[in-house]
Amino acid sequence: MSLYTENQLSLKSMVADFMKKEVVPIMAEYDRKGEVPMEAVRKGFEIGLHLLELPEAYGGIGLSYEDYCIVQEELSSYEAGFSTTFGASDLAVKAVMNAGSEEQKQYFGDFIAQGHLGAFCLTEPQAGSDAAAVRTTAVRDGDDYILNGTKCFITNGGIADIFVVIAVTDKSKGVKGLSAFIVERSRGVKSGKEEDKFGIRLSNTTDVIFEDVRIPSKNLLGQEGRGFITAMKVLERGRVNCAAGAVGIMRHAIELAADYAKTRVTFGKPIAANQGIQFMLADMKIAEESARQLMLYAARLCDAGENFQIAASAAKAYAGDCAMKVTTDAVQIFGGYGYSREYPVEKLMRDAKIFQIYEGTNQIQRSVIAGAMLK
Ligand SMILES: Cc1cc2nc3c(=O)[nH]c(=O)nc-3n(C[C@H](O)[C@H](O)[C@H](O)COP(=O)(O)OP(=O)(O)OC[C@H]3O[C@@H](n4cnc5c(N)ncnc54)[C@H](O)[C@@H]3O)c2cc1C
Repeated sequence: MSLYTENQLSLKSMVADFMKKEVVPIMAEYDRKGEVPMEAVRKGFEIGLHLLELPEAYGGIGLSYEDYCIVQEELSSYEAGFSTTFGASDLAVKAVMNAGSEEQKQYFGDFIAQGHLGAFCLTEPQAGSDAAAVRTTAVRDGDDYILNGTKCFITNGGIADIFVVIAVTDKSKGVKGLSAFIVERSRGVKSGKEEDKFGIRLSNTTDVIFEDVRIPSKNLLGQEGRGFITAMKVLERGRVNCAAGAVGIMRHAIELAADYAKTRVTFGKPIAANQGIQFMLADMKIAEESARQLMLYAARLCDAGENFQIAASAAKAYAGDCAMKVTTDAVQIFGGYGYSREYPVEKLMRDAKIFQIYEGTNQIQRSVIAGAMLK
């Protein structure tokens, strides 16, 4: 019995073919440079990688969330920074599809479908885990809002053409005074400092600066005061996607480690002949398989319209932690060669770390789970 339907298998194979042809040959070079391979991103547009989650009614491919996560696992198993570029654009899509009016969904869908990336701007220097501490303001001025503030660590911050921004519309209301807006770059959004990251270096992460950026009030997503709820809904779905990325990285690390263990000879026999190595590989496989099941379970709950808050946080935290452990063990199996940039496993270890940090750190996932359990 296959874990996947025929349709899912053909999606996986389409993505694998694309990655092998367009990204794998250049990824080491772009990892060194710390740059987004824009030519490959544009080729990704041709096969609709920016449209996977956008519903068909708004010009997208409209995959189920399960299928979407399966595709994300496949992308990440080849290159997690490249998949982050599209995944982060989808965070903006998620926000508009969750909170937007029919008109906003159509507008945003058309914009993305023309071959543009989006970005989701929540984090600020004092507002990471404490997301409600946002200080960027959106002040009403006639039929417009004027935005001021700086967001940090924004994926696609330097390359997106459209942003979903969480800003304060009423400071006196605390978390209920946050609102979400669609903001086109053409309205005067500036990109600031680019992060020189140690992992997912094929993705772009920058500050995003709003200095008297004027937007029409029709760009407000939903009602004033609903921004925090919108952001949390976006992140809940995004967490399952993060789990998929972490599973993809694990899969790749395990394949490399198992192959290496069969060929590396010490004391006259392959290192794979040692039970110590076999058990390490078996534990890595247990982590991959169980994290994938948790990720698929959360995605299916989401597709079924069930409450998937605990499952999403559990999948993200578990897969992220497992990916870190599995990639560290893969480096261990490669010995000194694992520590060298000449071999591919150190990159996987660097890339894996982000899955314990973004879209809510794994400590915050545990807080979310405990909060839901103890409510
Ligand atoms: C590469 C990258 C891409 C990103 N992309 C985006 C993006 O596209 N959009 C966006 O809005 N943001 C993005 N982020 C931001 C990311 O979501 C935040 O970095 C993350 O939520 C953590 O916030 P922080 O960095 O401020 O850490 P802090 O909140 O300062 O946390 C520091 C440490 O303290 C722990 N901690 C904090 N509070 C608690 C608590 N109550 N209990 C226990 N432990 C706690 C944290 O788990 C962490 O270990 C990105 C970050 C990175 C690194």
